[in-house]
Amino acid sequence: MDRREAVLRELNLYPLWVRRTEHVAEVVPVVEQVVEAVVSTTSEKRVTVQVRSPSPVVEEGKIEREQSKVSVESSWPELKQEVRNCTECKLRAGCTQTVFGVGDEKADWLFVGEGPGADEDAQGEPFVGKAGQLLDNMLLAIKLKRGSKVYIANIVKCRPPANRAPEAGEIASCLPYLQKQIALIQPKIIVALGKTAANALLGKNSTLGSLRGTLHDYQGTPLIVTYHPAYLLRSPSEKAKAWQDLCLATDAMQKL
Ligand code: URA
Repeated sequence: MDRREAVLRELNLYPLWVRRTEHVAEVVPVVEQVVEAVVSTTSEKRVTVQVRSPSPVVEEGKIEREQSKVSVESSWPELKQEVRNCTECKLRAGCTQTVFGVGDEKADWLFVGEGPGADEDAQGEPFVGKAGQLLDNMLLAIKLKRGSKVYIANIVKCRPPANRAPEAGEIASCLPYLQKQIALIQPKIIVALGKTAANALLGKNSTLGSLRGTLHDYQGTPLIVTYHPAYLLRSPSEKAKAWQDLCLATDAMQKL
């Protein structure tokens, strides 16, 4: 069994998962600029992110808006330092270290999870635990590799206690960092892993099911929503749907 076959078996894809092209025609572009940001880049790889309308926070169906307190102009070293120094929310006091993100800083693909778990908190890198192993296999299934044309980040940079979902205020405090990472990377496509990542990036409060299967728009960058790998570990029968989502993403990428 070669490596690719092993990966496809892991994803419950082998030998049944066949790439279909017909769903490409079903892709409905959704243009929703909920988080309004103006991004400009210069040759020194600095970005200015003006959060004109502060990041929306979705909580129990209502949208609150919180003013970002982070500075608006960043380069990679400054941004990493900003995140390391951040004490904007209570998560920092309860975690070991901030988990900034990992990978190719000029990546075509950006995968966004929810927040660090215990393994990530210990190692300082996103998706290094069991869910991370599955994510790596999902990447391999579409011929991608962590670190090569791929960047992996989270909505919040600090581990929420007992792996609870990040609260709306925590997301609002942390989201500007991810917005700046996106502005620096300028990925061709974003894959939101799970409901928290999808809703935070799209400024929505929707179910994962309703967000899947559509090509969304994050400030001009196509965004696809799929299941969080940790959910797929608990519900392996859903891996086939995740494969559909990845096919949607690769199809969208090929058309860019
Ligand atoms: N789950 C996430 O959402 N992110 C990680 O980095 C690890 C697990």
